Amino acid sequence: MGVDGGFDMVPRLGLGAEDTHNWALFIELVKGLYADDDQVEVKDHYIEFKAGEHPTLPFYGPLFLRFSSKISGQIARETGVEKYIRNVRRLAAGFFGGRIRFWTESTEQSGFYDWRDVHDIGRNLWEGKTQLTVTRFADEDGDYPLKITNDKLYEMLEIPDRGKGLVARCNIKRGTRILCEKPLLVVANTQPEVLNGIVASKLRSMSKEQQTQFLSLHNNFPRKHAFAGIVRTNALPCGPGAETGGVYPEICLINNSCRPNCHQSWNEAIDDGRETIHAVRDILAGEELTISYDDGNPTDIRKMKLKTSFGFDCTCDLCSLPAPELQASDTRRRLIQSLDEQIGDPMTMMNRPLSSLHACRRLLDALREEFVDPHAEGVATSTALIPRLYYDAFQVVVAHGDQARGRVFAERTYNARVECEGEDSPATQKAKRLMQEPASHASCGAYGTKWRTSKTAQPKKEMVGDEAYEKWLWRL
Ligand SMILES: [Zn+2]
Repeated sequence: MGVDGGFDMVPRLGLGAEDTHNWALFIELVKGLYADDDQVEVKDHYIEFKAGEHPTLPFYGPLFLRFSSKISGQIARETGVEKYIRNVRRLAAGFFGGRIRFWTESTEQSGFYDWRDVHDIGRNLWEGKTQLTVTRFADEDGDYPLKITNDKLYEMLEIPDRGKGLVARCNIKRGTRILCEKPLLVVANTQPEVLNGIVASKLRSMSKEQQTQFLSLHNNFPRKHAFAGIVRTNALPCGPGAETGGVYPEICLINNSCRPNCHQSWNEAIDDGRETIHAVRDILAGEELTISYDDGNPTDIRKMKLKTSFGFDCTCDLCSLPAPELQASDTRRRLIQSLDEQIGDPMTMMNRPLSSLHACRRLLDALREEFVDPHAEGVATSTALIPRLYYDAFQVVVAHGDQARGRVFAERTYNARVECEGEDSPATQKAKRLMQEPASHASCGAYGTKWRTSKTAQPKKEMVGDEAYEKWLWRL
């Protein structure tokens, strides 16, 4: 059997400028250090240490999870693998600090990652594949991930430079509900001095544990009215545009990314109301869970808002893009905002419905371009704007009597809402009802009947093909 030992990278490396830069420097340093060592071979896509069980370092940072080997037994001794692990770990810690987690079974520790994920990457590298390929997700088979002790798909960790955060324990499939949390308190938005008094009285009725959870949350406005400051820094609105906000023990620990992998939403249908977190793309083991604290602004406005409201300079994957790419993102974000406004205009919807419908289509394209999945080429993440735009498209066509397209848009609203909010969210259920009966919407035919169709008048997709179907749907 023997004893394993090594180190893991937690959170795993992302595609941001800092991680990419540091990993490239680290790899160069390792190459230089072992240039004359016969047991260390530089391959096309990775460095192989021909000691122990041949631990490797891939050149593509996001592929790196673990550097380890059996450190007991004859082979380990003869090849001196433990010394390699110790030295590589020391170098890695110089670049990545607390993200380097040393473990050894001789002290009954084990690594963060499931061995099967580590082995998959090793096998892919060996076969010359450098793409990330994820083959298993939580919940699909009952024993993945191993060592799950509290049914949680994430672990709360101290993350270097970011304070506390939540990190995925395993690969999590898009659309999975990761958290469903009851608020510690719900308060209305009001003046800090008033809010402070309200929170103080609510705190008194909480358990010791809840008080500690509340008081340990980040406060960006600590000087005056400290309780109100915690609420201002952490509260999430109880629904779109709600005047009340909730504070949560764990959800409030989720850090920001301007291109996040999770979506937060208030679901009043669960108990007395819960905040839920859903994966908006496939999330990889070791990735930090992120939500967006900003609602899709271009860089200058977004950075200023994050700084004044939350007190940090954002260095997420999006914010650290090279200038030309960041400018392209800003252009898209401005387009998204202007299309979103245009679509909301009832006069256009009434008098020029085709213009409103085409704006919905352009918005969909812009969102797909802006919110790309960093790990899957050609795949876009879902965002809350997608179900909204489908619902807008639904309203445009149905208000002019077009039930056939209305039904398709209601179905797309439903599917997009399931991904972001879950099947049980009231908005998802509403979309489901409209999918079955588009004419039940209050605005059906309100602007006339010039587009009138029956709810079953869709062309057959199998007959006409995807392209023609989309052309029909969007009236292109
Ligand atoms: Zn950012």
